[in-house]
Amino acid sequence: MKINIKSISFKLGLLLSGVFIVLLLLLGIVLYGVFTNLFVDYIKQDLLVRGTNHAKILGEKFDQPTINHVVAMEKNVVTKVVITNSQQSILASSINPNQDKKEHLRLGESEKLSGIIEDDWRNHEYIISASPIENGKGFVYMYYPANILRDIVFVMNILILLTSIGIILLALGLIGILSRRLTKPLVTMKEATNRMSLGKYKQIIPISGNDEIAQLGNSIQMLGERLQEYEDNRNDFLASVSHELRTPLTYIKGYSDILTKGIIKDSMEQEEYLKIISKETKRISFLINDLFEMSKLQVGTFNLNRENAFINPIIEKVITSLKPAATNKGLKLNENLQLEEYPVSIDILRMEQVFYNLIENAIKYTNKGEITVRTYRKKEFIIIEIEDSGIGIPTEDLPKIWDRFYRVDPSRTRKTGGTGLGLYVVKSIIESHDGQMRVNSVENEGSTFTIFLSNKH
Ligand code: ADP
Repeated sequence: MKINIKSISFKLGLLLSGVFIVLLLLLGIVLYGVFTNLFVDYIKQDLLVRGTNHAKILGEKFDQPTINHVVAMEKNVVTKVVITNSQQSILASSINPNQDKKEHLRLGESEKLSGIIEDDWRNHEYIISASPIENGKGFVYMYYPANILRDIVFVMNILILLTSIGIILLALGLIGILSRRLTKPLVTMKEATNRMSLGKYKQIIPISGNDEIAQLGNSIQMLGERLQEYEDNRNDFLASVSHELRTPLTYIKGYSDILTKGIIKDSMEQEEYLKIISKETKRISFLINDLFEMSKLQVGTFNLNRENAFINPIIEKVITSLKPAATNKGLKLNENLQLEEYPVSIDILRMEQVFYNLIENAIKYTNKGEITVRTYRKKEFIIIEIEDSGIGIPTEDLPKIWDRFYRVDPSRTRKTGGTGLGLYVVKSIIESHDGQMRVNSVENEGSTFTIFLSNKH
């Protein structure tokens, strides 16, 4: 298995291992201290109890048989006993005391109570306790060989070391597996985003769970889907724009060629051709206008030129300019405009564009019936509704109609001349006024677009 030292899993593993080893070391040191102290304490206590017991027996009867009996009790055990008189002369011993022990005998002289007189088990041969025999008759010295203790501690050290190594190896393995598991989804996401950067936007990222990493995976997947949608829309849009441009240009070129060749002499007919050229030029200019607006919205360069103004006159102006289009289609264009109390802080030209786009859409996507534009006030909101009895929008398309280039049915809108930019522009303008857009629509029954503007500004 190749180890990449720059990978997160390696760094994470290293960090966790470091922390774990430090914790284990601390634990080892504490455990070692606690165990050793407990063990040495136990031995000291044992030594003292036995010494004191012997001293008690001897206090009751300090004769040779009792002394011999006490020494005999310590014959076949690891502890040893030395019994002295009050002048520290050895009366009996279960060992032959050497120099080391004799030095300690002197130490015991001043002792009135039982106690440990040598506990440096690391550097001396014995741990020694001294217990005075009643009425100053003498002393009982108990010896525990320090080498036994050193051996036990050594074995304990080895055991702790081996266990620690085992635990560290086990932990390193587990940490390795854990950090790999943690970072595996990240690697999957990295690979998916790499593929996305090559243009394969739609990616399935198989990550289970619902933690932050899984959420990130979902977000990336959603981002890919959105990018794919955007790309598809853009391609459709470019096809649509080139088609939209080509059709009027063909007309313009055709009719202007005829006119320049002077084939048509009839002035009425000439005028008719010029009207067509003008109409088609207008169509192109609308399209370019939409594109221009969109690009401005996209780079965020559009600044609102706000002033206090009434909404109704702006709507009336738009209705007047669009009425002929509605009448041509046999549609009734009603207005029910109620609010005129206070002006609102708006960018008049942009608002005009909003109303134009919405009412124009209502006319475009309605074949029979009527269109009603309403304005009224509700709490701190000024509400503008554009209701039509048109073809409506399928429910699944409703959230997407605000997207750039999105058209419910591209083939249908090609006929009606849409670019899929109108509603995007509308929503951007309304939101920049801190307002909100809503839409309600039922297929084949009609749509209602509602604008909420706050008049607090
Ligand atoms: P377009 O230029 O294609 O009209 P818009 O952004 O204005 O683009 O609208 C996006 C899509 O929403 C349209 O293509 C159309 O399918 C749908 N739409 C917008 N307004 C209406 C409406 N009043 N009735 C039905 N469909 C509508």
